[in-house]
Amino acid sequence: MTKIGVLALQGAVREHIKALQESGAEAVGVKRIDELNDLDGLVIPGGESTAMRRLIDKYEFLEPLKAFAKEKPVFGTCAGLILMAKTIQGQDTAHLELIDMTVERNAFGRQKDSFEAELQIKGVGEDVNGVFIRAPYIVNVGKDVEVLSVHNDRIVAARQGHFLCAAFHPELTDDYRLHQFFVQMVNETKKVIA
Ligand code: GLN
Repeated sequence: MTKIGVLALQGAVREHIKALQESGAEAVGVKRIDELNDLDGLVIPGGESTAMRRLIDKYEFLEPLKAFAKEKPVFGTCAGLILMAKTIQGQDTAHLELIDMTVERNAFGRQKDSFEAELQIKGVGEDVNGVFIRAPYIVNVGKDVEVLSVHNDRIVAARQGHFLCAAFHPELTDDYRLHQFFVQMVNETKKVIA
């Protein structure tokens, strides 16, 4: 069975585990680097990206995560998307630098700290409920990045090869289509490796 980990240093871990299980995968929380070993894919949840980065450094996860991502699919939501970006607007440094894109944090402004919107997501659905919580958005993407969803002229979901990211929180709804999409990506990569 396809086994997907959810980075469990901080953030909405349990909800992602449930969504992955509902999507037909085995899912586990990952707290130690050796737990990455037998995974087919990884989800980096929402939370707070600078706090999560501090924990990534504390537990020496940065290089193991980069090495994992060279071969296996990674799906980042909200803060997870920020961690995957190559460039963060207004900051000199980024984190995992997996996806060729620039992101802006807390981009929807204070008055819209959190909101929900119906999204069209390419390959996923025309009516996906997006829950945005102090969400980032993708300012621009490189040529190898496929834009999957745009809300109010802002890119909110994208894919580059075996990397997937969303500015919103699909794990906070009971619509599992985006998780199913990721599980499918993981299964496809598994076939190629095998
Ligand atoms: N605003 C948070 C950050 O910058 C992300 C919010 C979230 O993951 N819900 O990391």
